[in-house]
Amino acid sequence: MQSKIFFVKITLTAKLKLNHTREQKAALDAVTLSYRDALNYTSQVAFEMGKSSNQAKIQKEVYATLRERFGLGAQMACSVPRQVGATYKTLWTKVKQAKAARERNPKARRYKGLDNAPRFVSRTLSYQYQRDYSFKKGQQVSISTLAGRLVLPYEGYARHLEYIASGGAEIRAGKLWYDKRKKQYFLLVPMEIELPEPDPMTHKQVVGVDVGMRYFAVASNTSNKALFKSGKATLRKAERFQKARKSLQQKGTRSAVRRLVALSGRERRFIADTNSSLASEILKTYPHAFIGVEELTGVRNRTERRSRKGSSEKTRKANRRRAKWSYAELLGFLAYKAPLHGSMVVKVDAHYTSQTCSRCGHCSKGNRPNSGLMFVCQSCGYHLHSDLMGARNTGLRALLVRQDWASTGCLSCTPDVSDAETKAARLSRYAELRWSPDTSPRL
Ligand SMILES: [Zn+2]
Repeated sequence: MQSKIFFVKITLTAKLKLNHTREQKAALDAVTLSYRDALNYTSQVAFEMGKSSNQAKIQKEVYATLRERFGLGAQMACSVPRQVGATYKTLWTKVKQAKAARERNPKARRYKGLDNAPRFVSRTLSYQYQRDYSFKKGQQVSISTLAGRLVLPYEGYARHLEYIASGGAEIRAGKLWYDKRKKQYFLLVPMEIELPEPDPMTHKQVVGVDVGMRYFAVASNTSNKALFKSGKATLRKAERFQKARKSLQQKGTRSAVRRLVALSGRERRFIADTNSSLASEILKTYPHAFIGVEELTGVRNRTERRSRKGSSEKTRKANRRRAKWSYAELLGFLAYKAPLHGSMVVKVDAHYTSQTCSRCGHCSKGNRPNSGLMFVCQSCGYHLHSDLMGARNTGLRALLVRQDWASTGCLSCTPDVSDAETKAARLSRYAELRWSPDTSPRL
């Protein structure tokens, strides 16, 4: 049988930092503010047209004014009514949903989103590719403003720049976005790229990743290459954010609320940046890998169980931290970025990954004396860092998924935990898994 190569399409958004002078920034300010005014004007017109969501009709009504009064180019004068029409369409859907809800339950609230013309506050501007913006040689982009085109150098992630330079990506409509805090414009460029569809033979290694409280992430591949990523410093910083947030919440004054909003934004960005770079580090450490991560519901249960068991103040504190950190986001980044590194991520279930001995298969709570740092097998005496044990068990289960995939051609990543019978069958298969120093995945 001849093997076929299939492709999967994934969409990335490149965030390009535009290097602008002060004069160029003024030109960008002018066009983004004008675009926003045009959106609000058009929104009012659509409202007076019976809250119309018909883009063509709205465009007919406003096009000339958008060109003359707001100075927009032809493309942007079409983008504005398109965006307004789409906004009204979304709001109409909500109105209908709310109406249906009120028919079921008369006490449900009436949706008020269309009582007034919706207002646009952010100065984000849509640019059509090859019309409003296009890429030039020497890492420059040409974008249209009210006073003609600006050619600006840009910066971004090396990989994204490569896709743009090589023409290997299909580029879509972009957005000019203003970061108020940094007083800096960015061009957000969605691009669709084609990657070979994953296939069990393209992965060079199988990796397990364990997320946790002492270590953010511990990873290990089947050749015993381990990665420990301590979360101490980061969690301390996260805790400082939480404390500051709490005290502002208690104050409740106007200025406190304003500071709270800014603080929450900083906290969210801090968590996202940390998770994003951690995911990249894991993927760079294990290129072309088949990566198993724990299904997160299991992780939460495990934490709850531990904290109920009259554990020490220290453990409870750690559990609180663990619950607060956004592990789901970390795993999300991991799955999202994996295809770019020739890797893929599958979820395996987390049952007993922390209690099972990867050498003899013995599974018991007793293997984790005092739920501590060390895993000590009560049957064979094997001991290992407990998070590394978790990573190994996760990796072994991923190996099982991969073997099933290779033999059946069918990849089932998410175990159906609700089905008790298949769960029992799965657990009995897990019990057969053993780790030996030469655990070599049959690649
Ligand atoms: Zn053992």
